[in-house]
Amino acid sequence: MENEIWMLKNKKEEKFLRKKTVEFDFKKFTKKEVVALVARMRRIMHVANGIGLSANQIGLPFRVFVAEVPDGNGGTKFYAVFNPKLEKASEETVGYEEGCLSVPGTWGDVERPAQVTVGGFDKNGKPAKIKAWGLLARVFQHEMDHLNGKLFIDRTKKLFRAEKEA
Ligand SMILES: [Zn+2]
Repeated sequence: MENEIWMLKNKKEEKFLRKKTVEFDFKKFTKKEVVALVARMRRIMHVANGIGLSANQIGLPFRVFVAEVPDGNGGTKFYAVFNPKLEKASEETVGYEEGCLSVPGTWGDVERPAQVTVGGFDKNGKPAKIKAWGLLARVFQHEMDHLNGKLFIDRTKKLFRAEKEA
């Protein structure tokens, strides 16, 4: 199957991944198109075994990301956030090893605020505010970085590479 996720090692794709994305304009899309976009992003994220995916990772220039993390009860919780904004970030930071679907085979420790509040819109265009901590806070910040053309490798002091790329 063709990989739908844009890769940093591809020069053209890198240029796009390094660009800041634009606001998602709900007026330009039908409800059906928005629902289809979320479903597509979720599917691609699942196929790639990821826990987060931003629209520009599949070649779309909009400020949209999806995330899915364990809910602590054996299930998962799925989020699709349109036009996300970091509203609050804790002073307390925490380090954790991150990877990225656009940079396969590479990991690095990244220090980030432990808790964040993210504002934005859900797929119906309704305002949403999400308080996140733990893994979810990390994924949210990683994906919002993507939407600003930033990658986790810019934030880590030491990168680890797998001997062979998957
Ligand atoms: Zn990523």
